[in-house]
Amino acid sequence: MNRSSTPTSVDGEPILFPRGTHDIRSRAAVFLRDETLQGAVREATTLKDQARRDVLKEAFGEDVDQIRSIAGEIKRHTIDHLDYYIETWIDRAEAAGTRVHLAIDHEEANRIVVEIAREKNAKLCVKSKSMVTEETRLVPQLEAAGIETVETDLGEFIIQIDDDAPSHIVMPMIHKDRKSVARAFVRELGAEYTEEPEQLTRIAREHLREKYRRADVGISGGNFLVAESGSLVLCTNEGNGRFCTSAPPTHIAVVGIEKVVPGFKDLWLLLHLLARSATGQPLTCYSQILTGPRRQEDQDGPTEMHVVLVDAGRTRILADPEFRESLGCIRCGACLNACPVYRKATGHAYGSVYSGPIGAVITPLLQGLDKNPTLPEASSLCGACFEACPVNIDLPRMLVALRRKTRKRRGTLGERIGLWWLRRVFSSVLFYRVAASIQRFALSCLTGGSDRLRAAPGPLSGWTRDRDLILPARRSFRKRWHDRGGASR
Ligand code: SF4
Repeated sequence: MNRSSTPTSVDGEPILFPRGTHDIRSRAAVFLRDETLQGAVREATTLKDQARRDVLKEAFGEDVDQIRSIAGEIKRHTIDHLDYYIETWIDRAEAAGTRVHLAIDHEEANRIVVEIAREKNAKLCVKSKSMVTEETRLVPQLEAAGIETVETDLGEFIIQIDDDAPSHIVMPMIHKDRKSVARAFVRELGAEYTEEPEQLTRIAREHLREKYRRADVGISGGNFLVAESGSLVLCTNEGNGRFCTSAPPTHIAVVGIEKVVPGFKDLWLLLHLLARSATGQPLTCYSQILTGPRRQEDQDGPTEMHVVLVDAGRTRILADPEFRESLGCIRCGACLNACPVYRKATGHAYGSVYSGPIGAVITPLLQGLDKNPTLPEASSLCGACFEACPVNIDLPRMLVALRRKTRKRRGTLGERIGLWWLRRVFSSVLFYRVAASIQRFALSCLTGGSDRLRAAPGPLSGWTRDRDLILPARRSFRKRWHDRGGASR
C-alpha cells in the first residue's frame, strides 16, 4: 500500500489544490462547501470538547486551572533544561539495553529506521500511530525500500487504505463517515459492505491480526520519555500499540526530543491530563511503560529496542525564547476541538500534519514562516485554545508574535489611518463611548432590526463572506450595569 497526503472528501473524491499552495484561506474555501464534512467535524469536536470539560471538572473541581499551571510548569522546566534531561534519559535507556539514535532531520530519521529494518531483512512492519513519523513521512520511505508497512491504529489504517491523510492529531479520520469506511473495506480488503461499526472493526481486526503474526519490525511513536528511568511511554486505546511493541522481534520508536519528562511523579499528572483532554477518558485504555528490550525472565517483548530521537527544527525553536513554550505540547488535540476556526476550516485546510491552533504555531516554526505565511491568521484569537490547553501553552500570544513577523511592510494609507483611528478609540473613554454609539446606530440601520448581518457592504464585505456578523447588543453593558445600580466611572 502506498501513502499519499491527498485528502479526500467524504464521498471519497480526492481534493486537489493548486501546486505549492500553503494558503489556508483557499484550502479552507474547499472544505467550507462540504456540508457533510462540516457536520461530522462539528459533532465530533463539540462532543470531545464537552467531555473534556466534564471529566476535568469531575476530577479536579475548581482546581482545574491550578492543575494546568502545575503541568505547564513541569513542561516549561523540562524544556528549559532539555539538554540535561535528554542526556539523563539516554544514559538510563542505554543502561537498560535500548539502542538510542539521534536524527537531526526527517531524512536522517527515516534513513535510520530503514537501515535497521534492512539489517533485520524485514519484509513487513506493523506501525502504531505516531505524529512524528507522519511529519517525517516514514511510511513512503519504507515502502520505497520494499518493506510493506501497515498502520494498525484503526483510524490510521482506514486513512492508509483510502490513500488519505489524517486531519486531527488524536482523531485522524474525523473527516470520514461510516459509508466511506465501508466503501474502502469493500474495495481494498474484499469485505462485504456493512456500515455497522462493530462489523467494520471486526474486519479490520481480522486483517491486522495476521499482520502482527508475520511482522519483522514494530514501529511506534512515544507520548513521553521518562528521564528518571530511561523509559518510553505509549498511550493507546485499541491495544494495537501493545501488539506492535511486543509481537515483532524488533521495536523501533521514533520520538521528538521534546517528549522527555523528569520523573514518574510528573508523568502521573501528565497522563491524567492527556487522556482527559484528548478523549474525555480518565486514562487511556493502555498506558505502556517500556524500559529496554525483553529480559531473560520476560515472557514476551522484542529482543531489540531502538529509539530514534528526532530534532527536525526542535532545537531551533528551543533557542527562541518567544516560542520555546510550544515544545511543551503533549499533542492532546484539545485546542483543535475548542477552536472555532478548526471546526469550520477542518484539519486538511492547514496543509500540514499538525492542524488547529497548535498547528498554526508549530508548522511555521518547524517548516519556516515563509512557506506558511497565512497559518498564524487561522485564529480569531478568542483564547479558547489557551483555556483548553492542559499544559497552559499561550497559543494566542505566539500567534500574534508570528503575525507580527509577517508584517514587515508598513501597510497601505487606508490601513494606517484605520489603525490610527482604532488606537485613538481604545485609548480614550470618551472616544470609545462615542464610537460604540455610532457603530450600534449604523449597524441597526443596516440590518433593519435583525441581530445579525449576512452581507455587509463595502470594506466590511470580507467579514461576511464566510460568516455572519453578529451585532452588538442594543443597550451597552455599561448602560445596563448603570441601570441596575452598578457604580460607574
Ligand atoms: S497546544 Fe495544548 S491543547 Fe493543543 S494539542 Fe498541545 S497540549 Fe493539547
